[in-house]
Amino acid sequence: MAQKGKKYAVGIDLGGTKIAVGMVDEAGHILSQARRPTGAEEGYRAVIGRMADAIRAVAEDSAVSLSEVSSIGVGVPGTPDFSDGTVIFAPNIGWRDVPLGRLLREEFGLPVYVDYDTNAAALGEYMVGAGKGARVLLFVTVGTGVGAGIVFAGKLFRGATGIAGEIGHMVMDKDGPPCTCGNIGCLQMFSKGPALADRAAQAIEGEEGSRSTVLRELLRAQGGGLTGEMVIKAAREGDPIARKVFEEGVLYLGLGIANAVSLLNPDVVVVGGGIAKAGDLLFKSLVKTVKERAYPMAAECVDIRLSMNSEEAAIVGAAMLEATWEPLKP
Ligand SMILES: [Zn+2]
Repeated sequence: MAQKGKKYAVGIDLGGTKIAVGMVDEAGHILSQARRPTGAEEGYRAVIGRMADAIRAVAEDSAVSLSEVSSIGVGVPGTPDFSDGTVIFAPNIGWRDVPLGRLLREEFGLPVYVDYDTNAAALGEYMVGAGKGARVLLFVTVGTGVGAGIVFAGKLFRGATGIAGEIGHMVMDKDGPPCTCGNIGCLQMFSKGPALADRAAQAIEGEEGSRSTVLRELLRAQGGGLTGEMVIKAAREGDPIARKVFEEGVLYLGLGIANAVSLLNPDVVVVGGGIAKAGDLLFKSLVKTVKERAYPMAAECVDIRLSMNSEEAAIVGAAMLEATWEPLKP
């Protein structure tokens, strides 16, 4: 629990492109926020330096002294060591065995809690976001990967060793495409942004590729390769190839969530990440698939929602890590 008499916590969302930091009070209100570019190419010390700078900025802006702060919580895009806050591996930012927890502790003399960004976001969605007050919340995020966090009775469900929530690696096809984890047919290989981009790129090279006008135009204008965002944008604008690729990605995502709904019986599922920007195009078919394909009695009582303010949720969730922290038994 939070240290006695200390009413505030700092929450940090460390992303591939930006660091978002907030000073958060006990009720989950953000008093002040700051953003810095991640700039991972400059090395981890520079990144952590910018993080420290943003922590001082939010303390100053909110007129909260660091002596009133109970802890610092960080959601990271990789695998943390829960015992000391080391980031074991975060490929998106090129980190391996980075002593994030120790460096922030040394800098500020405060307890530091480092968790998966999906866990922090799930907790934030439960505290202040679209999953507020759920009995069992399944938070699913789809961007450069597919991940999930589970909040059960107000606490993160971490599994036996902290790995729970790897929904992106549920096997959806025994003969499917190879995944970065070494397995084949994992959900994320059908639904993550880069997978949509790869399949769209193949499709516009194929027989029916000439039907894809918006996507080809976007590709020409951008000059580089396709991205998941471009596929979503083209699908929204009615490009038939982009729409087909996107719909298939959403179908698999829906099947994966349906499986998780049958297993966990959540009352709320919140979907966030880049794919949430697809809005209605995503939402209707996703809900339809989950409702049709989850076990009927579990499907009946689940409410599926899109994340409303995912950055705010990520900051608040990170700040709340201390309050719900339960050390895993080694
Ligand atoms: Zn996998």
